[in-house]
Amino acid sequence: MSMVVTEPCFGCKHTDCVVVCPADCFYEGESMLFIHPDECIDCGACVPECPPQAIFYEDDVPEPWRDYIALNREMAPLCPNITEKKAPLQ
Ligand code: SF4
Ligand code: SF4
Repeated sequence: MSMVVTEPCFGCKHTDCVVVCPADCFYEGESMLFIHPDECIDCGACVPECPPQAIFYEDDVPEPWRDYIALNREMAPLCPNITEKKAPLQ
């Protein structure tokens, strides 16, 4: 189990989430971030740091966004790690 980044992350202007992650398990896609499910330790620290509320525990991902569970697993290993807050995502 793991936290999952979902649709509201698209075009995020904050990336506040990555700074608090003790496991450095956020990865930067072209327009959103992904959490590597094998690295996330379910600490929950990132959840309140995400202004658009894009991060959910895997079991609690809203139905329309369930595909994001597989997408995070697929994309995280393909994207660069991100551990510092940066300019808005495109
Ligand atoms: S805070 Fe992080 S997870 Fe939340 S929308 Fe922004 S980049 Fe995505
Ligand atoms: S739950 Fe904890 S370990 Fe998992 S992505 Fe969020 S801050 Fe990182």
